[in-house]
Amino acid sequence: MRKETSPITKIVVPAGGIGGARFLRGLQRAAPDADITVIGNTGDDISLFGLRVCPDLDTVMYTLGGGINEQQGWGRDDETFSVKEELARYGVGPGWFGLGDRDFATHIVRNQMLDAGYPLSAVTEALCERWLGPADDQRLRLIPMSDDRVETHVVITDAQGRRAVHFQEWWVRLRASVPAESIVAVGAEDAKPAPGVLDAIADADAVILPPSNPVVSVGTILSVPGIRPAMAAKTVVGVSPIIGGAPVRGMADACLTAIGVETSALAVAAHYGPELLDGWLVDTADAPDADAAVAGITVRARPLLMTDVDATADIARAALELAAELR
Ligand code: GDP
Ligand code: CA
Repeated sequence: MRKETSPITKIVVPAGGIGGARFLRGLQRAAPDADITVIGNTGDDISLFGLRVCPDLDTVMYTLGGGINEQQGWGRDDETFSVKEELARYGVGPGWFGLGDRDFATHIVRNQMLDAGYPLSAVTEALCERWLGPADDQRLRLIPMSDDRVETHVVITDAQGRRAVHFQEWWVRLRASVPAESIVAVGAEDAKPAPGVLDAIADADAVILPPSNPVVSVGTILSVPGIRPAMAAKTVVGVSPIIGGAPVRGMADACLTAIGVETSALAVAAHYGPELLDGWLVDTADAPDADAAVAGITVRARPLLMTDVDATADIARAALELAAELR
């Protein structure tokens, strides 16, 4: 007799920026009737130009709302940079961080609300009403991992000596060219999950880890006390961001090296560990032989390049099928 698998209709996805957002677009295509709760990484957040910048939340919001710059993967489409140019004429930077005119509007709204005392989760909900529709009608809901300030800092040694810099400075300005000695989510220990985060996990049929950065996106979300054990109690299936021993885009290898994890699909699965992860999708290029697989984690090989929304939907479908099997 064939074992019945009940459909997965409530899904939680802890997501970073570009990899997470692109995966979510495929997941929506693969499961149009599912309720999806996205737990967004806020470890990349930084204060610049007097404004609170939340790159990963905005990348998810713009991508799913149709306002993203598709080529770049972040920022607004049809963007101009007059405000930034004017700021530069006052000598106000940093020049290395791209914030366009349209994007500035989002940040002004966010700052007004934060200054008025709203927590980041409420601000995010308000911003998402524009992009994802009225909160009560949303099939996909975006919640920051925490309303408390958590910031990823990176310890480096350069001409200025040994020092900690904000993750954005290491990633965007230095392009991770200086090795990270350690990566610290400052404030994580004392942070609380944002309202709705733990309830969504408890209520979920499955948690799907998108191909987001395992260290500074998913890893940071998991470092907020309470989130990892809540997820570990669920069926969790992940999609490898590492294909053929390298990140598909970005410098995730530099982050993995910093925490002593080899840049390979299976090493990332072992890093998450079998207490958290039940299933793991690797690319066909990484199809493991049986004894190379990680104990306690079901590994399956599928093409994992998110070349377009259809290909990404196939990846999402494979993740949901594996989750349904492992439930
Ligand atoms: P960020 O916050 O913008 O850096 O984005 P994420 O943390 O969400 O995702 C970054 C990760 O996505 C990188 O480690 C990439 O290797 C991975 N990635 C990007 N495109 C693809 C793809 O097409 N397939 C897979 N499997 N991973 C991808
Ligand atoms: Ca990010």
